[in-house]
Amino acid sequence: MVRNELMAGLNPAYGYPEKFHPQAAEFFMNYTLEKELGCPNEKISNLLPPKDRICRFCSLKYPSVTFRKDAHIYSEFLGNKYLLSDFECDNCNLRFGTYEDHFSKFLGIARTMLSVKGKEKIPKFKSPGGKVVIESDLGEGNQTIIHAKRAITSDETFVFDAETKTTKINFTKHPYIPVKAYKALLKMALSCIDEKELWAYKMAFEYLKNGKHDKEWIGMAHVYRYAMPYTFCYLKPCGFLYRKRNPFNPAYTHVFVLNALNSIYQFVVPFHASDLQYANKKPGLILPWAPPLFGSPYPFSINTIRQMQLDFSSADTVRNDKESLTFSGSDDSYEIARIIDKRTGQIREEAFDGSKIIGIDFLRQPYDPKDHGPTDPSTLS
Ligand SMILES: [Zn+2]
Repeated sequence: MVRNELMAGLNPAYGYPEKFHPQAAEFFMNYTLEKELGCPNEKISNLLPPKDRICRFCSLKYPSVTFRKDAHIYSEFLGNKYLLSDFECDNCNLRFGTYEDHFSKFLGIARTMLSVKGKEKIPKFKSPGGKVVIESDLGEGNQTIIHAKRAITSDETFVFDAETKTTKINFTKHPYIPVKAYKALLKMALSCIDEKELWAYKMAFEYLKNGKHDKEWIGMAHVYRYAMPYTFCYLKPCGFLYRKRNPFNPAYTHVFVLNALNSIYQFVVPFHASDLQYANKKPGLILPWAPPLFGSPYPFSINTIRQMQLDFSSADTVRNDKESLTFSGSDDSYEIARIIDKRTGQIREEAFDGSKIIGIDFLRQPYDPKDHGPTDPSTLS
């Protein structure tokens, strides 16, 4: 991994794969780290008592609004247990819960595959109509077994390719509204903005409040994403708020980067008062990609990192968003099937026939207990 001299403000343990050097140079030339906010390992105790709180999202104070619920800065289902805020009222918390629900549906099977616990347990993924069910089972000794089952064997949910020795599981995500999923991300970014600069984001808070402006204030809901294979996971989310170095540079003031699960999301924090002058001007602003940062060497090939640009502008429900999961099996597993007789425990062999298979189990090694630094990019293998 490498670093460049412009990264001086970042944790010295962080680096990026060499392949991303040109974009890192461009990004850090324009932006510098303003704040890194990771999740603590235990409850934080310096929060204001509820009666002294003001909600930054609706500007209401106690007692016009209540602050009874734990308000998580990053969604709890991403693995954030203890990073809480004292500036989100129960009403806003409830509304953000619906945004998170859309974001979670957009994520599909990620949380199950990566065995990241939400409030209580690792979620089970059940595709619409129950066609495919994926479960993560924490067994003894921290072994994890992922079970995939399908309802009928005659469909295209499991595809076995004997030639490439790969298996593909095809499934459909639950319907979600992109702009609502985006607002879950935006809320996390706005929670990281310094209190003294909140005034500049008045429009962003207005936009987050409801769907009133979803069809007119468009164009900024674009998110860059790096997706790592499911053998990798940030056990806890971590956010990086970057600020443009030169205030006169025609670029957005803040860029937010969130490392969560097996992905990195990057987007501009929209509607800063001093950025509005760039709105509707052509050519549009170009946002350089921040390089993917890791706290320790990663256990996968760089070529498996996928880079994609997501457009979350639409306020219409996305249905039939398809995803697939591909993995390879052992050399002879596509020729010979070993069948265990559950009654006698005996194993018999017969010719492999994919059309008879209703379930697949994969075994995953335990997490590496080694500390990988504040962003916790822990590994699975
Ligand atoms: Zn509020």
